[in-house]
Amino acid sequence: MRTRPLGRTGFELPLVGQGTWNLELADRRGALAALRAGLDQGMSHIDTAEMYGGGMAEELVGEALAARRGEAFIASKVLPSNASFEGTLSACERSLRRLRTDRLDLYLLHWRGPHPLEETFAAFEKLLQQGKVRSWGVSNFDVADLEEALKSAGEGKLACNQVLYHLKERAIEERLVPFCERHRITVVAYSPFGSGDFPLARGAGGSVLAEVAAANRATPRQVALAFLLRLKGVVAIPKHSTVPHAVENAGAAQLELSERDIARLDQAFPMRSRKGLPVV
Ligand code: NDP
Repeated sequence: MRTRPLGRTGFELPLVGQGTWNLELADRRGALAALRAGLDQGMSHIDTAEMYGGGMAEELVGEALAARRGEAFIASKVLPSNASFEGTLSACERSLRRLRTDRLDLYLLHWRGPHPLEETFAAFEKLLQQGKVRSWGVSNFDVADLEEALKSAGEGKLACNQVLYHLKERAIEERLVPFCERHRITVVAYSPFGSGDFPLARGAGGSVLAEVAAANRATPRQVALAFLLRLKGVVAIPKHSTVPHAVENAGAAQLELSERDIARLDQAFPMRSRKGLPVV
């Protein structure tokens, strides 16, 4: 699968990775098979968090990868309430245990919380020195948060910012994506299908999506991912809990949309924040 650089870390991430939020709620055997099929397809970036299912998603990932750890690039996240210096170190140990591994490839602060960024980042750096994490970054940071983070950590430390990005929620394109490009911070697009809110084929935008898909011999989901991935600093982490969904999503990495297709989708899904929040 095609890859993109992860910040300035020297690591590469596949264009399409695998999310695991609520994966523990799916049929267990199906979910394990989906993760492994995803890995077969090159979706080595597996995103999880201590929060997901109270640790159950991490356990599922650990089980799925027990014999294939070397092929995977595992990202997990510390809860903001745990993100003091000592709290981050302990949270990481618990995640490592659940994931049955001795290192996280990427460790993120899930969102900003009560603890000073300096403390969390100092813990990330210590974990890096200890070899327990191989890179670190943040999630749900807006431009002001990132400016503060860069002031605290310096340039080149933050590998990525994992944020909400899908056809109906394009607010990050205005300021956040250009900011991340300038500072070489990879944007990891979460909920790339809008979680449960994928455009319906019979809706106005959905019908354009279906037409573009048919013209490219692709599926609407693949087109939706390819649209996000047209931006050079972006990778995506859809969640799938069946093998056919995993295979379909991996196929998006091969799809390059024409300027015309992009313009049609751009019009069908205009850039605005769905929740009416200011663009960040
Ligand atoms: P997604 O936008 O990835 O959508 C997931 C839904 O799409 C599921 O219902 C899934 O069904 C369905 N789906 C996936 N592939 C297909 C397909 N090919 N055809 C039809 N349906 C499909 O939702 P998430 O909110 O889970 O986001 C993805 C990941 O991003 C999360 O799992 C998590 O890892 C991360 N995330 C991070 C957040 C953060 O704060 N940092 C917040 C939210 C998400 P099925 O399961 O049946 O395959």
